[in-house]
Amino acid sequence: MQRPAWGADVTRTAVLALIGAQGPVSRAELARSLKVSAALVTQLTRQLIADNLLEELDSVPSQGGRPARLLGLTSSASNAIGVKVAADHVALVEVQIDGDVVHKEGGLSVVKIAIDPVWHLPGIAERFGASEMGLRRALFEQTGGMYPELVTRLDLQVFLPPIGGTTVYIFGDVDKLTDAKTRITCRVHDECNGSDVFGSDMCTCRPYLIHGIEECARGAQEGGLGIIVYNRKEGRALGEVTKFLVYNARKRQKGGDTAATYFHRTECVAGTEDARFQEFMPDCLHFFGIRKIHNLHSMSNMKYDAIVNSGIEVVNRISIPDSLIPKDAMVEMEAKKAAGYFTKEAPKSKEALKKVHGRQIDE
Ligand SMILES: [Zn+2]
Repeated sequence: MQRPAWGADVTRTAVLALIGAQGPVSRAELARSLKVSAALVTQLTRQLIADNLLEELDSVPSQGGRPARLLGLTSSASNAIGVKVAADHVALVEVQIDGDVVHKEGGLSVVKIAIDPVWHLPGIAERFGASEMGLRRALFEQTGGMYPELVTRLDLQVFLPPIGGTTVYIFGDVDKLTDAKTRITCRVHDECNGSDVFGSDMCTCRPYLIHGIEECARGAQEGGLGIIVYNRKEGRALGEVTKFLVYNARKRQKGGDTAATYFHRTECVAGTEDARFQEFMPDCLHFFGIRKIHNLHSMSNMKYDAIVNSGIEVVNRISIPDSLIPKDAMVEMEAKKAAGYFTKEAPKSKEALKKVHGRQIDE
């Protein structure tokens, strides 16, 4: 079926959002609550019923005498919808139920894979063109001497680095992984507990992840594969303590939170803008035999470069739809675009970045 245009038909979305939030309502109630004409409600609900998103339920007595029909979200339809209503935007997620990838009760079929990093030191040294002893010494020093065995037990070739692991969710038939003809949709996501789990609106992490999951499910339904790679690299691998210090510094700085100072604030607190090391990130894609990603849902140049430089072809780079970006996250989004992250539009000038403001500390 035709997918509704994002952000283009807010009233149509508002109808779904209202019913999603309140349960079945009559057309008259819809018109009253949305402050639109009865004729428009009739027209919109007719379309939504035709699209199998709404259905007519039982009649209830109305004041005017004729019983009013209640409209509810479809329970037996071929589509599932999720509606998120935030203070500044309404987002609609729509997926087809096929009973294979997406189930009627809203579940998704996936294959879950958990990976812990285990480094074979001679192999890692070879990949970086370094000597094994040089690598051992660097790791020993950069971890504050916590792992003396790195330099005292040369017989131990394997090291468990003190970094987070990876979770992979695969949508679709895993037997197709090594088939070069399989269209692969992929989101490589770095953990952001504040947004992913707790729904903070200061960044786009959760909307990006959810959008990636939706597109992976859609890709699998179309006969391809979807892959979500979730890496524990909280706060650009600087950790959540650093991240919260940066958030505080951003909100409390003179002039407020602006896109112009977004990266600078991180550097002031942490000494670097970003501590992520993406060179090993594509390893898990290679474990699965992937040679080509058709749709890569990421704006990050570090991720894109690491994937392409590891020998995997990327056909399309896809950024998050504007309608999914929370208002307060525009600071992050515009700063990233200006810093060279992938975008189809021209990034804002330095002066324009100063005008992209986030919420005040007391708002
Ligand atoms: Zn985030």
